[in-house]
Amino acid sequence: MTVRRPLIAGNWKMNGLKAEGQGLARDLAQRLNKAGGVDFDLLLCPPFPLISTVVGAVAGSGIAVGGQDCHAKAKGAHTGDVSAPMLADLGCQFVIVGHSERRADHGETDALVKAKAEAALAAGLIAVICVGETEAQRDAGETLAVVSGQLAGSLPTHADSGKVVIAYEPVWAIGTGRVPTTEDVAKVHGALRKDLVGALGADGNGVRLLYGGSVKPDNAAELMALENVDGALVGGASLKAEDFWAIAQSC
Ligand code: PEP
Repeated sequence: MTVRRPLIAGNWKMNGLKAEGQGLARDLAQRLNKAGGVDFDLLLCPPFPLISTVVGAVAGSGIAVGGQDCHAKAKGAHTGDVSAPMLADLGCQFVIVGHSERRADHGETDALVKAKAEAALAAGLIAVICVGETEAQRDAGETLAVVSGQLAGSLPTHADSGKVVIAYEPVWAIGTGRVPTTEDVAKVHGALRKDLVGALGADGNGVRLLYGGSVKPDNAAELMALENVDGALVGGASLKAEDFWAIAQSC
């Protein structure tokens, strides 16, 4: 049986100023330090301007830091964008690509998400690739087709289990307090696992599959107990150290 170490990732989105980000990151680093050995990995994805502060605050703790997006190109005339090498240079180890808010707000397609994921890998970053259906797609019974299509279209050509993490995030569950049933999550994660093995062979069994969408301390344990759920991508609840830590401890 493949053992996958759970990953609990916090997506701070566009929240926090320097002092708050530093306080939150330090609080988590202290909790991790005090806990001694733990059976999960922690990842914090602050907004770009807070990355250096957070990298400094978690230094030596084992907590990883990631960006929330990157450009598909390494450099060039792309005003306002940030490249994967820039994130790596700041001390990031991960970057989220294809979050539904980027797909919706910035019209990101699977092809663009794939190009961003490839840029991440080329810069030595691990790409956290997000997939997920809208409520209308779910109601039309299209969930599995949608997420499988997004995965196939977004997975980098040279993906392997050490370079990519997949996050299943139903769009209708993000920030709404609504969560799919555990049966539905198990079904989608099982289908994604099959797709990953189809694409990567046996190594697909080693790819971490996160669930994201209104994960809170009171629902994390039952989600994390599912066979193909290897952690969580957490938005709102990652902004409170107590809640994020409680979610991590449910693994
Ligand atoms: C997210 O934005 O990735 C997310 C899962 O948000 P929330 O936990 O707030 O639903």
